[in-house]
Amino acid sequence: MRTDEIQTLETDVLVVGAGAAGVAAAVTAARKGLNVTLVESGAMPGGELLTGMAIDGALNGLGEWVVGGFITELLQECQRLEGYIGPLNDWRLIHYVCYDPEIMKLAVANLLGRHGVRLLLHTFAYDVEHADGHVQSVHILNKQGRTRVIASLFIDASGDGDIAAMAGASYLSGDQGQYQPLSLMFRLANVDTDRLLDFLSHEPEHFALGESDAIRGGRTDQEIVKEVCKQGHPTVFLKGDGPLMANAIEAGEMYPTALIMIQPTSTQKREVCLNTTRVANVDATRTGELSAVLEPLSKQIETCTNFMRSRVPGFEHAVLSGLAQRIGIRETRRIACDEMLTQEDVLSARKRKDGIGKGSHHVDIHQDGIGQLRIPVEGGGSYDIPIGCLLPKGLENLAVAGRCLSADRPAHGSVRVMGPCMAMGQAVATAASLVLADKGQAAKPDFRSVDIEQLRQALAGDGAILDGTH
Ligand SMILES: Cc1cc2nc3c(=O)[nH]c(=O)nc-3n(C[C@H](O)[C@H](O)[C@H](O)COP(=O)(O)OP(=O)(O)OC[C@H]3O[C@@H](n4cnc5c(N)ncnc54)[C@H](O)[C@@H]3O)c2cc1C
Repeated sequence: MRTDEIQTLETDVLVVGAGAAGVAAAVTAARKGLNVTLVESGAMPGGELLTGMAIDGALNGLGEWVVGGFITELLQECQRLEGYIGPLNDWRLIHYVCYDPEIMKLAVANLLGRHGVRLLLHTFAYDVEHADGHVQSVHILNKQGRTRVIASLFIDASGDGDIAAMAGASYLSGDQGQYQPLSLMFRLANVDTDRLLDFLSHEPEHFALGESDAIRGGRTDQEIVKEVCKQGHPTVFLKGDGPLMANAIEAGEMYPTALIMIQPTSTQKREVCLNTTRVANVDATRTGELSAVLEPLSKQIETCTNFMRSRVPGFEHAVLSGLAQRIGIRETRRIACDEMLTQEDVLSARKRKDGIGKGSHHVDIHQDGIGQLRIPVEGGGSYDIPIGCLLPKGLENLAVAGRCLSADRPAHGSVRVMGPCMAMGQAVATAASLVLADKGQAAKPDFRSVDIEQLRQALAGDGAILDGTH
């Protein structure tokens, strides 16, 4: 590896981070005919899309799709590859979209290739050259050495807002040392769904049910249990303060956690994803501290697998079939942008003329121990995300997309999920295509030069959902 000299790469748009937001941004910009480079520090594009969790926030609490466009093409690709389960009601708070994460790996790769995105894996963006509010280049490092990537426009989809922070943007991070937990997602196969649902029918007191009025719809717990069984998928949530888990936690058979969230990933493999491990209040941008939680999270997986096998009907013969390829990070930097999405915007399902995408997930802040704050959006509706939440203050040609957007902590707890992340990626990439439509016109391209109405029309034309839902 040569590190003594620096190479140069020119591109219309540089996207940093190939998670839900970055893949949506890169594919959208490339479809618009732009030359796009997507830089990813990991070994696979897809980020948290690859861990087995369902996509939240793409449908509202009434079951209406509120995110369209890019996500539709991605899910159609999963369906073509026979790894799509589809939207399900969790009969607790949300409707989410389930799929096989192994198939999602192929789907993401296919879309990036199909649309001609230049993908650089194993490549870390480590520095930014900027002056007078203008980003000139981002420096990347990989086995070929160091490269200065010169682009007209930059999209920071790094989750942590690395590029914006390096370009001098101010940001908030967690809440006075509190951060949502880091988790390692895992999957268990050979699960007997009928037995699990039978257990739910007979002992519903162990499960979280009908936590939002929109989902409950006036039903009793027993009526909700019937709906879960009718749906026929393992969409259940063992609660930390329910008798089964509380006793296990007290006996040291389980670690303290709010829920064991169980979602289907493959009916053929009888496989489910479990979202439950947690180590809270770690600043994940401190790499040493992040890495130190791998061991405790791995131990929790072993503990939880043993608990499920010995105590939860349907899991007697379950086998560990998959593990996320990295520690999951819920919360780090929230970059200061022209606007900040607020809890009030989220909970009141606020609609706006400058909305470029939607969110609908509840305010969802996982805490330490068995704590978790869950507040549903009013009426099971959706709220609009204004473009201003994606434009870092004082920077012209850099936009953020995904979980590093500007939001207060409760709003972030809602909008960080993957449905809105994809909507944000599609939106900033579409904005980029409008800015660059007149190539050569502007010496210093500026995301703020985009006419918001023109942007909304372009997004709607590409299938994005901006109006007409609750
Ligand atoms: C444990 C856990 C459970 C969750 N459960 C759900 C759920 O059930 N449903 C749901 O919808 N959402 C869920 N979320 C939230 C959601 O997954 C994330 O907030 C969302 O995926 C973030 O997408 P993103 O594109 O912003 O970031 P990411 O998916 O984190 O992608 C960012 C990418 O950027 C890369 N990167 C970072 N820095 C650099 C750099 N300097 N140079 C190059 N590359 C870089 C990373 O490797 C990564 O691939 C969960 C999150 C966690 C952690």
